[in-house]
Amino acid sequence: MSDKIKNKTVTMTSPITVLAGVGEKRAELFANLGVFTVSDLLRYFPRAYQNRGDIKTLCEAALSGETSSMILTVGCEPKSVTVKRGMNLTKFTAFDESGKCQITFFNQPYVKQLFHEGEIYRFYGKVMRSKNLWTMASPDFEPTVIARSLPDFYAVYSLTAGLSQKIIRNTVSLALASVVIDDEPIPEYIRRENSLISFAEAVNIIHNPQNLKRLDDARRYFVFEELFAFALKITKDAKEREGIPGIPLNISDADKRDFVKALPFTLTEAQARVIREIYADMSSGRAMSRLVSGDVGSGKTVCAAASLYLAAKTGHQGALMAPTEILAVQHFHDLSELFKNLEVKCTLLVGSMKRSDKIKALSEIASGESDIVIGTHALLSENVKFADLVLAVTDEQHRFGVNQRDALASKGKNMHVLVMSATPIPRTLAMSMYGDLDHSAVDMLPPGRQKVSTFLVDEGYRERLNGFVYKQALEGHQVYIVCPSIEGSAYDIRDDETDTSGLVDFFGNKIEISSSRLKNAVEYAEKLSAKFPDINVGCLHGKLPASEKEAVMADFVSGKINVLVSTTVIEVGVNVPNATLMVIENAERFGLSQLHQLRGRVGRGKDKSWCILVGDNIGEHSKKRLDSFCATTDGYRIAEADLAIRGPGDFLSSSGRDLRQHGALEFRMADLCDDMDLLYRAFDAARHELEKEK
Ligand code: ADP
Ligand code: MG
Repeated sequence: MSDKIKNKTVTMTSPITVLAGVGEKRAELFANLGVFTVSDLLRYFPRAYQNRGDIKTLCEAALSGETSSMILTVGCEPKSVTVKRGMNLTKFTAFDESGKCQITFFNQPYVKQLFHEGEIYRFYGKVMRSKNLWTMASPDFEPTVIARSLPDFYAVYSLTAGLSQKIIRNTVSLALASVVIDDEPIPEYIRRENSLISFAEAVNIIHNPQNLKRLDDARRYFVFEELFAFALKITKDAKEREGIPGIPLNISDADKRDFVKALPFTLTEAQARVIREIYADMSSGRAMSRLVSGDVGSGKTVCAAASLYLAAKTGHQGALMAPTEILAVQHFHDLSELFKNLEVKCTLLVGSMKRSDKIKALSEIASGESDIVIGTHALLSENVKFADLVLAVTDEQHRFGVNQRDALASKGKNMHVLVMSATPIPRTLAMSMYGDLDHSAVDMLPPGRQKVSTFLVDEGYRERLNGFVYKQALEGHQVYIVCPSIEGSAYDIRDDETDTSGLVDFFGNKIEISSSRLKNAVEYAEKLSAKFPDINVGCLHGKLPASEKEAVMADFVSGKINVLVSTTVIEVGVNVPNATLMVIENAERFGLSQLHQLRGRVGRGKDKSWCILVGDNIGEHSKKRLDSFCATTDGYRIAEADLAIRGPGDFLSSSGRDLRQHGALEFRMADLCDDMDLLYRAFDAARHELEKEK
């Protein structure tokens, strides 16, 4: 392509091929990263930054073991040698006041001409010890020039084969230098009110931050931009919904009493309050859109049951959708039992049912013979036709996307919608995550619950831990063991391109990496099984076909399997009261809220239960998090701690990720834990903006 064409105006919407040096080939590589236009490129944000401004001495760098920045003087003229198979090595020494280091470049013979004795460079690399010598292999380097300061921060991008950091950095720089930015997604008055810099400034800084303060300004801009778009959508949706009528449903006090009498327990105050809130919604003539959140075991199911009962007793239908077959079947059994004397008919519909059973269920649903339908996402299938559906309940909403929730709701007209989430969410956060829903909290556990004793141990306890697992199994109890990975030797050490040592995140915090080997479920189960041949060890993970997963889980529920080694697939609502021990391997890899979910699988029966977290060689920050988890069993406090104690490293292995998994939100920049303040501001701004439109 000729330079003339390349010289035309570069706008945000131009394809990146307008940039010099970006031909079709390279554009294809960028396409792998989702980058097609100049705007895509400028919004391809760094995943981290090298902090080259943090200068260490050779000695400090060697001790830290991390990729570091050093100012060194070249100690001799470089020597180049060719060793076997044509490999070229260029070697020289460099020093500072703390010592001397041998620097080697591989297959870069041109560096021989670059370095000369006495010159001073800033090197960026990892200092290793080899015999009695400090060494450094192929470090990055920049000549120091008097009166010109080197930038402190270098962007680090996620790569794809064929595109190096350097190529991406250069292409971004070129785009920044040539683009004419004329759009500004956030209105001026909103930026002023919230002290936000402009888009043009922000995009320059995010790729080339001069310092952490500026970087924070840029991050703040993009977080706000993202949250503002989200808030606009939520606020609009909520407005639209307000006007939607719902069928008003009312039952007699006698019917209400019958329901309460049929329960095998007395409702907690929290449950009674939530049920009142639900009834108020459903009788109001407005369509209900309500989230019920509550700690694991707080008894949310009965709240769902009450709403389903209301739909059934008024002559309509209600549906309950659960994320797994196990859970759907469990609900079906419990609800059938509860409703058997209340003249309410329950029908089960799950994918694995026999064809003839399925046909029978479908006809019951379509004819209106069934009052309450319980199932998995099989309920969403097109051939499921309801006679008169007025209520859609989703259990464990965080396992579904918003779209699935809406898909169930679209099976009827002006439906009442109830969603249940087991992650205790602080009210403020719930408001924003599910801003389009009203919120009820079952914020109290039924009486007589046992506390699950929780401990953090390291590898030193391995034998004792195995013995404990064995003992629980021999005593007739069941054990869950959760591993972070499925199979293979998953080390958390990454290859060179993605090595995070010495990198900082958007906040300037050092990114913590754990070098401990990740436990994998498959190998773990094999080893445990070989060690204790007289107990039955099962293995469950996401790669198994659905039918096999269900079979393993069913064997665990029935007690056939004593010890279940799994990935986090067991996280969801399963009730096995006989399980008394939960072991979580590489516990530092999990968010607090996720750990809390896992712990909630035990302590459901009358027997004393334990949760053992195994974390070896974990950083100080992780230890603090896990210790705080051991100290409390209150899910709301944990969720709040999750918000409060974030720090180094969490940017990547973020507890915020759990919250994001709710499917309601998928943010690139914003982290609800850190950015709560901005979230509120974004909602305020969205309200103003929408009022202005009127
Ligand atoms: P979750 O909120 O985790 O979905 P469930 O609804 O599954 O909780 O309830 C957990 C267990 O507590 C069930 O066995 C249920 O029967 C029992 N339960 C619920 N409410 C009460 C109550 N008020 N008193 C005693 N037990 C209760
Ligand atoms: Mg539940």
